[in-house]
Amino acid sequence: MEILRTIEEVRKLAARWRQAGERIALVPTMGYLHAGHLSLVKEAKQRAERTVVSIYVNPTQFGPNEDLDKYPRDFARDEASCREHGVDAVFYPDNAVMYAPDHSTWVVEESLSQTMCGLSRPTHFRGVTTVVLKLFNIVGCDVAVFGRKDAQQALIIQRMVRDLNIPVEIVVAPLIREEDGLALSSRNKYLNADERQRALSISAGLRSAASQFDAGERSAEALAATVRTAIEAAGGRVDYVVVMARTTLRPLPLVNAPAVLAAAAFFGKTRLIDNIFLDP
Ligand code: AMP
Repeated sequence: MEILRTIEEVRKLAARWRQAGERIALVPTMGYLHAGHLSLVKEAKQRAERTVVSIYVNPTQFGPNEDLDKYPRDFARDEASCREHGVDAVFYPDNAVMYAPDHSTWVVEESLSQTMCGLSRPTHFRGVTTVVLKLFNIVGCDVAVFGRKDAQQALIIQRMVRDLNIPVEIVVAPLIREEDGLALSSRNKYLNADERQRALSISAGLRSAASQFDAGERSAEALAATVRTAIEAAGGRVDYVVVMARTTLRPLPLVNAPAVLAAAAFFGKTRLIDNIFLDP
């Protein structure tokens, strides 16, 4: 497995692969890899001969008072996980490689990013779309794999690729959970034992709402209230609980079309997100 720190190294290796007729899949991550990330690697390996994992804590997708500085990092462990899972190359750039000091060009998606996480994190998706397009341009990948854990992000990337005619196939892989339901996230590392226990209310609330939905409830307000109540009863601070149309992310007061029930909440200082799909 190659560890690549510069754009030139990536381009050289990717060109060699392409010349050999091999397709390249990219899995963009911020590192501190867990089973959710590794499920994307497995997906990537089925879609292309070569798999590249990028590990980069992208500063432009963090707000001024967010957790950029304390975001968990463990490159040695990430490297071992990638090796073990048959990754061909890890792209591990530093900020100087990724951003010129006078960087001034951005990719801005203007519709899907105006809601949900975009409301509480106004510059987040601009940072995500910009870095993802940069990674696509650096690697020249044929396929890129994202997780449904970040359902809004995946939709925004798909929209960017469509709108800008980017020749990369986007694959969205299922959300991976701990056995007790907690959605896997690098940020779970911030939770102390008590917060982690209380954070289970997010997935538990989503599951209760899903049961209600299965029993015939179609009111978005009622379904969202179930989740909100569960989180608040556990002492969490709700950022949002919403029911949105699956592809447009417009509010869906009555769930009579494919929807996503999504939640963001703080436990202590840690902001967690989770979602489930509702299919009438
Ligand atoms: P991150 O390192 O948090 O930026 O995530 C990198 C990629 O892994 C994104 O496409 C995420 O959606 C995906 N991912 C993170 N957590 C999970 C999870 N629990 N299940 C599936 N995919 C995930």
